[in-house]
Amino acid sequence: MSSKNYSDESLWSSEPVNSVTLADPDALLEGLTKSQRDAVTHEGGPLLIIAGAGSGKTRVLTRRIAYLLATGQARPWEILAITFTNKAADEMRRRVNELVGSDADGMWVSTFHSACLRMLRAHADVLGYARGFTIYDAGEAESTVERIMKEVGLDTKRLSPRSVTSAISAAKNEMQSAKDYAAMHESGDPVRRRVSEIYKLYEERLRNANAMDFDDLLVNAVLLLRADEGVLSSYQRRFRFLLVDEFQDTNGVQNELVTMLAREHRNICVVGDSDQSIYRFRAADVRNILQFAERFPDATTVLLEQNFRSTQTILDAANAVIEKNLSRHPKNLFTEGDQGSKIRLYRAGDEYDEARWVASELQRFRSQHNITWGAMAIFYRTNAQSRVLEEEMIRASVPYRVVSGMRFYERKEIKNALAFARLIVNPRDEVSARRVINEPKRGLGDVAQTKLGTYAAQHNLSFAQAVVFAKEAGLSGKALNGALKFATTLEQLRAMANDLTPREMIDAIVRETGMGDELLDDNSDEARSRLENLGELASAAAQYETLLDFVERMALVAESDHYDSAAGAVSLMTLHVAKGLEFPGVIITGLEETVFPHSRAMNDDQELEEERRLCYVGITRAMSYLSLSHAWSRTRWGAYMDAIPSRFLAEIPPELMEDVSSPPPLRRNIQRDEDGFVGRDSEFAQGRAFGSGAAPPVRSTGAEKLGLKVGERVVHDRYGAGVVESISGENQRARASVLFDEFGSKQLVLSMTPLRRA
Ligand code: ATP
Ligand code: MG
Repeated sequence: MSSKNYSDESLWSSEPVNSVTLADPDALLEGLTKSQRDAVTHEGGPLLIIAGAGSGKTRVLTRRIAYLLATGQARPWEILAITFTNKAADEMRRRVNELVGSDADGMWVSTFHSACLRMLRAHADVLGYARGFTIYDAGEAESTVERIMKEVGLDTKRLSPRSVTSAISAAKNEMQSAKDYAAMHESGDPVRRRVSEIYKLYEERLRNANAMDFDDLLVNAVLLLRADEGVLSSYQRRFRFLLVDEFQDTNGVQNELVTMLAREHRNICVVGDSDQSIYRFRAADVRNILQFAERFPDATTVLLEQNFRSTQTILDAANAVIEKNLSRHPKNLFTEGDQGSKIRLYRAGDEYDEARWVASELQRFRSQHNITWGAMAIFYRTNAQSRVLEEEMIRASVPYRVVSGMRFYERKEIKNALAFARLIVNPRDEVSARRVINEPKRGLGDVAQTKLGTYAAQHNLSFAQAVVFAKEAGLSGKALNGALKFATTLEQLRAMANDLTPREMIDAIVRETGMGDELLDDNSDEARSRLENLGELASAAAQYETLLDFVERMALVAESDHYDSAAGAVSLMTLHVAKGLEFPGVIITGLEETVFPHSRAMNDDQELEEERRLCYVGITRAMSYLSLSHAWSRTRWGAYMDAIPSRFLAEIPPELMEDVSSPPPLRRNIQRDEDGFVGRDSEFAQGRAFGSGAAPPVRSTGAEKLGLKVGERVVHDRYGAGVVESISGENQRARASVLFDEFGSKQLVLSMTPLRRA
């Protein structure tokens, strides 16, 4: 395996099947093992493929689709394939087209949410929704719950909107309506009764707004199929072949959905690995895979144990870790490939030292093993860990990208523009209306909004509809004018939507709503970058046929969707996002107790097993080289704290690892600083105390001594010019937030950053 040449990314990022001539079924079986072939050629009836990581599950699924098409067993529109992310769906479609040498039009390859959305769009009326209904994301669901709680006078400090939202979500994932939930907890504990009241109001609120949350997409699809025999049987007849990847992470509703759809033809093929089930917090239920054989007693089961991805060393480590889980079926992955090199372990002083080592390790992957940047990945447990790593990547000139995708769409100006777009397609969308009714300012403060809300409730209207009745609702003066102007603008935009492309519509929104003018008047660097972002949004919209398509896709942008292996940059991502991917070189960072495993697993065996599966997922992403790191101290929640190495490190047999760190720090490096806080001196913090470690010694840049003040202009070696937004801490712990003209806001540790006065 180590002999592969990774300088050409196409060698690993897409599996080559050179010998496949156009739709020759036999060629599709080339390069498969006997068990893989059995799965690909399986003739109808339920099929369960259980297999460990990297054993070719996704490859088998893709080949099977191609095979069904090439042998004429299925026509494209008779296939429904479900993947975990939109990105994986695009990839699978691309591969199938490549394999069969044509465009398999009409095939549904999508996530559960997208497939449900598609069915609901076509039959929204069956459930009493209007066309163009909005999808509320998790944050919008929570803000709606919070508003309801405030309206009915509940103390949101004692009962948090987040916990109520997740209780509602959990209920939905059990297919419990507000009514069911109320009945179940009628005489139960008071908190549950509270939740059931809020749940009822929440459902009404969404109905009025012609909106669904993410859970509703799944639940409503099931309700739709239950409610309309005609719709159900048309889909049952249409989808002669159902295939589901990552089945271990389906929840009860998703399971119900595929079971219903498969009832007619029973050609259902699910693949999964119970050791990779990592979405329990989203109600995923690994029992779905374990009970598949009970649900479909005539199911054929195929086991795959040969791994084609990783070296034996990496597999041995993965096996050793996952073995510690008690609730699993024992299985052992093997490879016919090389033993491979040892797993490298670095014990860092703190997170900065760790980040520096990570950068040097990536450079080593590149120079010693000829791996391209795009073929490497850094994983961490929580998003917050990326910041320090990012800073170091920039300093070390390592091209990188953070794979989370949501960032761009979380920006205020983007959310606002999208809110207008959503209001154009769904005039009743309450969350969007509230978001932008006073953006830019139209004199519609809280009081005016409360009046509109009350009027809406009294007349059984949605908040958005009530705006037109601003006068009747008791608004006057500036507020009244503002409301009417808002309503008129929306009317105008809706009228334009018939003639303009999605791209033109985004431009129109920026222009007509006053967003653009507000930013132009501001004329600050920040305003300019916001305008650029809006331009970027318009470019994104240009890829869609209709505004509705665009808005829909935006609602479903999943985390890993922005991962692009061809990008020539190292990928940074959380372990959850890494599922299903593979990289020749992988570094897993932050292997510390309460970081990974996460603190919530400390006193909970089930959570701990879930964390261990996550670790197994992380390790098994690596093809040839795996490196691990932990830090002895880490700044968390603003405090510099000592950290204990993760138990997962101890679970990997020591002979598989090579400790590449320098000797551990001596206690004398710990000193008290001016405020009496126990910390490390600057030498320690910068890794100099390690002597000849893998991390190059770094001198203070001296920026902490500049005495910078908020508002001052500064210049950074890489980011260029910017302005200081805030300063905190002193001496080597002095940090600044700087808003750069071109790169936006960055958090910097002054002693380590090449920053000077402009
Ligand atoms: P995961 O559990 O991580 O989702 P998986 O079981 O879906 O993994 P794949 O991603 O399908 O595994 O395959 C892992 C790697 O092994 C891929 O690079 C794939 O191309 C390769 N592979 C699979 N089967 C074979 C085979 N028979 N011969 C050679 N390479 C294979
Ligand atoms: Mg897979």
